[in-house]
Amino acid sequence: MGLQQVSQSLVRRKGLDVRTHPVEDFSGAYHPCLGLGGRQPYSAAEGKLSMSWQSADLLKQQIPLLDYLQGQGWKPARRSAGGRLMGLCPLHTDRRPSFLVDPGKNLFYCYGCSRGGDVIRLAELYHGVRFATAMALLRRWSGLGSPLPDVTAFYEMQLHRHADAVDYLLQRGLHRAELIEQLRIGYAPGRCLRAWLTSLGYPLESLQQAGLVNAEGHDAYSHRIVFPLEGNLYGRSTGAAVPHMFLPGSKGGLYAWERVRRYPEIILVEGMFDLAVLWQAGFDNVTCALGNHLNALQFRQLCTDDEREGRRRTVYLAFDADVNGSGQRAAQRLSQHLQAARITARRVELPDGHDPNSFFVSGGNAHEFHGLLERACL
Ligand SMILES: [Zn+2]
Repeated sequence: MGLQQVSQSLVRRKGLDVRTHPVEDFSGAYHPCLGLGGRQPYSAAEGKLSMSWQSADLLKQQIPLLDYLQGQGWKPARRSAGGRLMGLCPLHTDRRPSFLVDPGKNLFYCYGCSRGGDVIRLAELYHGVRFATAMALLRRWSGLGSPLPDVTAFYEMQLHRHADAVDYLLQRGLHRAELIEQLRIGYAPGRCLRAWLTSLGYPLESLQQAGLVNAEGHDAYSHRIVFPLEGNLYGRSTGAAVPHMFLPGSKGGLYAWERVRRYPEIILVEGMFDLAVLWQAGFDNVTCALGNHLNALQFRQLCTDDEREGRRRTVYLAFDADVNGSGQRAAQRLSQHLQAARITARRVELPDGHDPNSFFVSGGNAHEFHGLLERACL
């Protein structure tokens, strides 16, 4: 599949291009009976509607309208058919209950002031603020501080707007749109994340604290392919900058461990591009340590999980066969530690100068990689 097709296919699958978003998507979340009839509900900046919509959706899933209302001291006066609730309107002085809440649809409508919408609209009206501030207030109220879900969605969208980034993925042997989507691979062009997150109500200091924006106020990730991790973000430079980058803090556990741990045989690789080509080639039992040195959590995952399941696991270490030998030395060391923990470890020997990614990029196939696994030594 060529670059153009990959791009188009990605755009088609996710409806990522703003122009591909039908208007119904936008008004669809509003119950027609609630009288909003497709009016633009938020004061979101033009052209960023579809991304605002994604972030808003995420927040709405996390904060049920009724929880927020009750948190503000709202009490229902009576319950009507279908689990709907009626009470006094919190948006004006109300003597008879005219405020309808549908907890199932997460929507409200007031028969007194004819206003309605979702939890974000409520926060806008209740606090008299605009979209970004309403989002920020809601996040603060619920304790949802991390911008990472919004960052991931934003960088995923950027990937489809930068042909050179998709081209880079193709050069690294990644061509299946489904896989790119599954791993949620994105692209950080630089110079745009800060403005975007600020428009969603994240204060600059919190972005700097998270390591997404540097001390000078610029996006920390620039010209990087990004892979979201649990609680972190891995960025691989597509240019001359330092190749690998993480947010401050732990790189977390083994990649996709919950999915991989059920396999009796596991292949452990150093890098996300190694993992990606192997998943693409059908090796579902691959996990990644993000480097050749395992942290305590990652090591524990490989060992203790196994005891719990009551069976012995085999770990294939497919580390880089780099010229300076650091990958192989790390594999040797890890193999000894695993054997000491009664885990069978086998070292996969790749051709000199190769890692699993370059093995596939230079024409290796699944059958040949199987051969390497079979010949892996203890
Ligand atoms: Zn009202």
